[in-house]
Amino acid sequence: MADELHQRYQRAADAYRAHEAGCPVCCDDRHCPVGAPLHGTFARLQDAWLTRLRGQRR
Ligand SMILES: [Zn+2]
Repeated sequence: MADELHQRYQRAADAYRAHEAGCPVCCDDRHCPVGAPLHGTFARLQDAWLTRLRGQRR
């Protein structure tokens, strides 16, 4: 089943990981000005995705 939220979450995760891999500044609790919004988007979508998973299990 195609899931738009999951696709956006995966894309955000890929974008952030690709940036983090090549960035000397970014790590789990520290982000450069380029990485910060990438991580913000990733964290927001991950939150939404995990919230949905939890909702489905009820
Ligand atoms: Zn960075």
